[in-house]
Amino acid sequence: MEESCQICRKAKEEIGKSSYYLFETEHFRVRHSDETKIAGYLIIEAKRHFLDLSMAKPEETAEFGEVLAKTTKAVRQATKPMRVYTFSLAEAVPHFHMHVIPRQEDMPKRYVGRGIMSYPLNPPLDCQSRESVSLSITRAFKSL
Ligand SMILES: [Zn+2]
Repeated sequence: MEESCQICRKAKEEIGKSSYYLFETEHFRVRHSDETKIAGYLIIEAKRHFLDLSMAKPEETAEFGEVLAKTTKAVRQATKPMRVYTFSLAEAVPHFHMHVIPRQEDMPKRYVGRGIMSYPLNPPLDCQSRESVSLSITRAFKSL
């Protein structure tokens, strides 16, 4: 836990009190993104504070592949995208997390592929849509 870290602080606030996290393992948590209006945009976060996988413990590295595969499957099952984008930058928040983004058929061409990096962060997804897609994804995780 790093007091100055946005991911660590949010986890401390949310643990055990809400459905903020859709899926959890021993070393990782998965939540819906608070940014963009892309329904099903998930974030996989390490529970322990570290920058990237070079600093992960062997047990975290071993678990991560399974978490990523399950998260990709859950997104695919719940949102039926053309592609599922995954990447980790750790620039804005230096705590290991991976973006898992469903790219739908109707995504404007300028945001397809590497263009996803310029997708607007605001406005966020409306609450009702977020709850609805989060419920579908939670069900998908349970079915895996
Ligand atoms: Zn952190």
